[in-house]
Amino acid sequence: MATRSTRSGSRVIKQPARSRTSQREQYGRSRQGIILCSDCGNVHYKKHWWHSNDRGLHALVSMDYRKAAHTTCPACSMAAHHLYEGELTIENVPAKVRKELSQLVKHFGKTATERDPQDRIIDIERKGASWRITTTENQLASRLAKKVRESFKKHVAVHISHSKEPYEVDRVRATFTVLK
Ligand SMILES: [Zn+2]
Repeated sequence: MATRSTRSGSRVIKQPARSRTSQREQYGRSRQGIILCSDCGNVHYKKHWWHSNDRGLHALVSMDYRKAAHTTCPACSMAAHHLYEGELTIENVPAKVRKELSQLVKHFGKTATERDPQDRIIDIERKGASWRITTTENQLASRLAKKVRESFKKHVAVHISHSKEPYEVDRVRATFTVLK
């Protein structure tokens, strides 16, 4: 089985390749031609999910939507079933940084989705100082945690820990600790 590595402190955790890759390949094997997601409009073609307006896609194929098959893409399907591959829990978020953190999380999600239409933040749950952010891709939670740590390092320390679960869900915990 293919593995991917995540560096956590000095430890390297081996993870199985994420299931969505094989899901993408399944689409590629079972269906030739173009598949459209009925919810978000993402296009599956040649084993990749694309933004419908992607220039690279249009260079490969002239879009004829009449011939396209319709489905729900993995990311929309995950959101609809309240599933996720990455979860970032952020504790002790000081009131004074909540607006900035909110903007950072939204911007991070937007940038990730621009890069890969299937990489998405599914939900941001805020209960005062405790936030829970779920993502369609397990590495996204780690990357977001690192971004938060990097962005707030002048004012806070963010401790990141991973707990691996079956089914390739990556749970990351970040805690704000106000520096003296
Ligand atoms: Zn979709």
